[in-house]
Amino acid sequence: MKAMLLKGPGRPLVLENVADPEPGPGEAVARVLACGAGLTVHHARAGRVKVAYPRILGHEITAEIVATGDRVTDVKPGDGVTAYFYLTCGECRWCRVNRETLCENFRGYVGREVDGGYAEYIKLPASAFIRLPEGLDWRRHPAEAAVVCDAIATPLKVTRKARLAPTDTVAVFGAGGGLGVHMLKVARWAHARKVIAVDVMASKFEACVKAGADATLDASEGRVAEQLLELTGGKGIDVAIDFVSSASTLEAALAALGKGGRLVTLGGNSGTFSASSGEMLRKEIELLGSRYASKEEVIESLELVARGELTPMVTEKAPLEQAETVHARLDKGAITGRAALLMG
Ligand SMILES: [Zn+2]
Repeated sequence: MKAMLLKGPGRPLVLENVADPEPGPGEAVARVLACGAGLTVHHARAGRVKVAYPRILGHEITAEIVATGDRVTDVKPGDGVTAYFYLTCGECRWCRVNRETLCENFRGYVGREVDGGYAEYIKLPASAFIRLPEGLDWRRHPAEAAVVCDAIATPLKVTRKARLAPTDTVAVFGAGGGLGVHMLKVARWAHARKVIAVDVMASKFEACVKAGADATLDASEGRVAEQLLELTGGKGIDVAIDFVSSASTLEAALAALGKGGRLVTLGGNSGTFSASSGEMLRKEIELLGSRYASKEEVIESLELVARGELTPMVTEKAPLEQAETVHARLDKGAITGRAALLMG
């Protein structure tokens, strides 16, 4: 099969012919129709996340099951599927209560610890495939269906973590990124009272407004907290969602929170930041971490998209062979919304 291979940290992806995958016991093989290309994947391409080389990247897939190994009962040839990004055990305390992101026997990620979707075929444990629902036209819209499992599911979980209510004013930091614009959409869908897009690239604000932002705020001026307070008549925001998660964005978000405020951090900048316990107490502030989504939330996101309640924003599509061109644009932060690769 054709596959784009990453052969070392920071090396360009190269197109090669590799052996077609064969399913072992408990595994299934699917023909990939489309695979999302976002920052999470780019961290591996750029060498910021180490993987075993050579590796086929990509985890947001639309695919069709073509073969199954022994003891596989949950999928069969012909099924339209996507993938759950985390390789989890399905049996531990956390997996059993739909909190798979905390799995005690976590085995890594699709497209990092095992080969992913930048190829014509993908082999995974059958339990990592999630069947696409009736009503989702995945054959006609494979790129849009592919990105739901992360780009919609991750924001859906955030709305629940933060207990987003119709009275809430929400600010999304890093709103112009692939997850950010989808967070704006999902916050709007969840009936937030007001959704504010915060980003350092003003060129992305048009897309943010299209995704549902009521207001945009240029963070490059460095007065984010003050501006958020001005926008809310001094009351402060109810929910801050930070996809950047640097000390400065987290501290600005915290300073902009009003009474009962919730701060959700999802960004990969694993740094430390300061919070005043007095402010937390006085305003009953909640600090929350959220990573990816549960399988249940992926299934629910697919259902919402199938019903037309939410629509993923895939702004760029390219053939598999042009993966490197797409990643060059991801590297510059030039892509608003999500990009996806299409196979054949
Ligand atoms: Zn587990």
